[in-house]
Amino acid sequence: MPQLPDLTGFASALQFVVACIGAYLFALWIAMIVWTWRDARARSRDIFTQGLSLALVVIFNLPGLLLYMILRPRETLAEKYERELAGEAMLQDIEERQVCPVCHHKIARDFLVCPNCHTKLHKKCDHCERVLNLKWNVCPYCGETQGTPVVGRTVTTPPPPPARLPRREAPTLPSPETPKPLPPSAQPAEG
Ligand SMILES: [Zn+2]
Ligand SMILES: [Zn+2]
Repeated sequence: MPQLPDLTGFASALQFVVACIGAYLFALWIAMIVWTWRDARARSRDIFTQGLSLALVVIFNLPGLLLYMILRPRETLAEKYERELAGEAMLQDIEERQVCPVCHHKIARDFLVCPNCHTKLHKKCDHCERVLNLKWNVCPYCGETQGTPVVGRTVTTPPPPPARLPRREAPTLPSPETPKPLPPSAQPAEG
């Protein structure tokens, strides 16, 4: 009777290897799920998106992870926040770097007049003397209403309309130096 090779040892070794591979794959799967969950939470606040990303990896494993990596938001929330902050800072920098509207000379934001062309840029509050925009008619710092208008500050009273005088009798003031009594012959003849 031919002796069959003893396979029990080989079978158990194979079983052990399969079990190891299985455990490794399971660990990998769990790790992929955990990584995806963290990544999805870092990239989106939407619970639906997070759940969908997780489901993709739970159901489809590695292909699901590849799909998720293709479809996930490009930047994390922290990166987005940082980018927005940088953009805001840049915008503020531009706003602060003011120039004169007339001669485009560089000015500070609290200049009252342009040092180059003397254009009036800001005004002072009547009450607290802080620098205000020319258009503001109330001080935002102390609440004082600004009484003096900026444009046409010089009060110009219009000339009074000429008094209507009767045509026939012009009021001629008699000057003492040249009394010129008209001779009776110079008067126009009536009739
Ligand atoms: Zn100027
Ligand atoms: Zn004020």
